[in-house]
Amino acid sequence: MSSEHSDPAPEEPVPSLRHAPEPERFLVSDLCSILETYLEPEEVKTIYRAYLLGADAHDGQLRASGEAYIYHPLAVARILAEMHMDADSIAAAILHDVIEDTPVERDAISEQFGEDVAMLVDGVSKLTHLKFDSREEAQAASFRKMMLAMASDLRVILVKLADRLHNMRTVMALRPEKRRRIARETLEVYAPIAQRLGMSAIRRELEQLGFEALYPMRYRVLEASVQKIKGMRKELMRKVEGSIVRRLEEYDIQARVYGREKNLWSIYRKMRDKHLSFSEVFDVFAIRIVVENKDTCYRVLGAMHTLYKPKPGRFKDYIAIPKANGYQSLHTVLFGPHGIPIEVQIRTIAMDQVAETGIAAHWHYKSGDEHSTAAQRRAHEWLRTVMDLQHNTGNALEFMENVKVDLFPDEVYVFTPRGEIMELPRGATGLDFAYAVHTDIGNSCVAIKIDRHLAPLSTPLQSGQTVEVITAPNARPRSAWLNYVITAKARHNIRSFLKSVRRQEAVEQGRLLLENALAQRGYHQHELPKSLPALLETLNCKDEDDLFFDIGTGERLPAVIAAKLVAGTQQGEQGESEPPLIIQGAEGMVLSFANCCTPIPGDPIVGTMTAGKGIVIHRGECANVRRVSDSGRVVSVEWAAELDDEFPAGIRLVTRNERGVLARIASTISSQGANISGVTISDEDSMASTIHMVVDVRNRKHLADILRRLRHIPEVVKLMRVLA
Ligand code: MN
Repeated sequence: MSSEHSDPAPEEPVPSLRHAPEPERFLVSDLCSILETYLEPEEVKTIYRAYLLGADAHDGQLRASGEAYIYHPLAVARILAEMHMDADSIAAAILHDVIEDTPVERDAISEQFGEDVAMLVDGVSKLTHLKFDSREEAQAASFRKMMLAMASDLRVILVKLADRLHNMRTVMALRPEKRRRIARETLEVYAPIAQRLGMSAIRRELEQLGFEALYPMRYRVLEASVQKIKGMRKELMRKVEGSIVRRLEEYDIQARVYGREKNLWSIYRKMRDKHLSFSEVFDVFAIRIVVENKDTCYRVLGAMHTLYKPKPGRFKDYIAIPKANGYQSLHTVLFGPHGIPIEVQIRTIAMDQVAETGIAAHWHYKSGDEHSTAAQRRAHEWLRTVMDLQHNTGNALEFMENVKVDLFPDEVYVFTPRGEIMELPRGATGLDFAYAVHTDIGNSCVAIKIDRHLAPLSTPLQSGQTVEVITAPNARPRSAWLNYVITAKARHNIRSFLKSVRRQEAVEQGRLLLENALAQRGYHQHELPKSLPALLETLNCKDEDDLFFDIGTGERLPAVIAAKLVAGTQQGEQGESEPPLIIQGAEGMVLSFANCCTPIPGDPIVGTMTAGKGIVIHRGECANVRRVSDSGRVVSVEWAAELDDEFPAGIRLVTRNERGVLARIASTISSQGANISGVTISDEDSMASTIHMVVDVRNRKHLADILRRLRHIPEVVKLMRVLA
C-alpha cells in the first residue's frame, strides 16, 4: 500500500487541523477575516454574497445536532480557507448542499457566481449520491477510483473531503447505525483519498474521528494507554527536547522543535495487521524539527548525529528523493538516553506544508497572481512531476494509479443493481454493460434503466450511475446493435449470434413468432391474413420467407407486423400509401407520439406496445414508460436518420411583464423557422408571467437553437423545456 505505512521510520505528527474545542459559533465574519489575509477584497465580497444565498436557501433547515444548517457549509468553507484554497472553492463550499437540499438550481449559481462555482457545486452534489457500504477491500478501491473519475475538477474532491471532515467532527449527533456507516466509509474511502493527495493533516483527523465513531471502546482503551505512557515518559521527553534545542543553539540554527504523537488509528491498525502488542508499536519518541531552508536540514542532521548516536540503516533522505506523493523530509533514528530510540524528522517550512496539506498546498493563492485555472494547471503539473518521479525511482505506488484516473480519464465506473462496481471503457453504452454482465443478458436485452429511469440501449454511461438491464425472453441481437457498442466482448458476441442464426432456423422461428402474435389477435393457427402480399410489397420483401427471416433475426417485431396485417385486412384494398419512415424498428406499424412527453428527433426514445394503438413513442425519461416497463411491453426504437418533419415540443418561460415581450418571443421563434402551435399564459403576479408554448421543431438541435435565442431576451427570466 502506501509507503507511509510500510516505512518503519515516519510517525504521525499531532494533527494540526484539529481545533481544540471549536468556538461556539464560527460566523461568516470569522470566515471573511481568514479570507482577507489572502484573497482580493472583490473575491471576499463574492464569497459573502454566496453566504447570503446559502443562508437564505437553507433558512429553516436544521442539522442533526439541532444547529441551523448554514453553520455546516460555513465550517466546510473554513477548512478550505485555512488551506488557502481559491475563491471559487470557498464559494462552492458554502453552496455545496444547495442544489441537493434546497430549491436553488445550478443555473442560478452559474449566473451569480460563474460556471466554475456551479460546476464545483454540481460535482460535489453528484458525489453525495454515492454511498459506500461494502466490507470488501477491492470494492473500496474501485469506489475510490469512481469518486476520482466523477470529479471533473480535483477541487471537487477537496470540497468533498472538507465536507466529510466537518461531518465527522459532528458525527456523534447521528444515530448509531448511520454513524457507523459514515465512519466506515470515511476510513475506507475518504481517508485513503486524502492520503493519495498527500493531505496528511486531513487524513489523520478523518482516521482519528472515524476510528472513534466506528470502534468507540477500542478507541478509548488505546487512548488511555497512550496517555499513561506519555505521563510516564514526560520527564525524559522534556530532557531529550531540551538537549536538542540546546545543540541547535550551539550550531546557531533557528528551528521549531516539537514532539509528535502517533495517530491512534495507525497504532490500532499496526497492532491488528501485524499482531503486535501495544508496547511493541508504541515504543519510541518522535520529534520533528522544522527549519527555514534545505541546507539547514542537512546541518540539523549533522548536529543530531553528534548529539546522539544514529541507528545504522535507518537514515532516509526523502529530500533528495521525494516520496511519490511529493513528501520531502529527512528521517533518522537516534539512540537516546537509556538507549531509547528517538525518531527524528527534519524538513523545511514549505516541505512541512506540502506534507500536511498535499495537493491543496499547490492551490495557494497569492493576490495579483494568475487566477484559479492557472493554479489548477500547476496542481496538475505537480501530479505529472510526481508521476515521472515514480517512474524514475521505480517506486510503484498505488497513489498515482488512482489520481491518474482524473488526469487521463479513460474508464467509467458504474454500479450494478446489487451495488457492485463495474469498470468499462469511456464511451461504453448500456448494451456494452449488458454484455459485460453476461452474454445471455446482452443477447436478450431490450432496454436499460439508468438510475431507475428507462433509457435506450445505445445510451453512453457515466461514472456513478446505477445501471440495470431489462431483458425479454423473445429479444434477440440485431445487426444495428453493432453501431452502439464499443467493447470487443459485446461486438464479438453480437456478431457470433447473428452468424449462428441460420437462415432456415430464422425463417421457422419468424413464422412461429408471427403466428403467435396473430393468435393473440384472434387468428387460428397457421392462418395468415389476406393482406400479407400487399404488406410484403410495401416492406420490400421478396416473399413470405423473407419477412419471416426478418422477424426471426429480430429485424422486425412480430407484434408490429401482426398489427399491420390486421389493419390492412380491415381496411381492405384502400391501399393508402406508406408514411415516410420516422422510427427504425417500427416499419409499417401503427405509430404515434406520446402526448405526455412529446419526443422530438434527437431525444432518447423508447416505444411502448399498447393494444389497439400500436407503438407509442415516448422520451426515455418519461414517467409513463416507467409505469409500463415492468410488464415488458417496451421495445427498443431509434429515430430514422433523415427526417423532414416537424414535431411539437413544450417550453415554459417565465418573463418579466413588460410591453411587447410576447411579440419579441414570437418573432424570435419564427426567425428560427419554427411555428408556435399553442400558447397559454398564466399570470403569476403583476411583475412576472409564466408562458407555456408548443413550438413545432425539426429536432433537438433546432429546439436548442431557439432556446438559446430566447435566453438572449432580457425579459426572459427562466426558460425550460417541459414534458407537454
Ligand atoms: Mn455537506
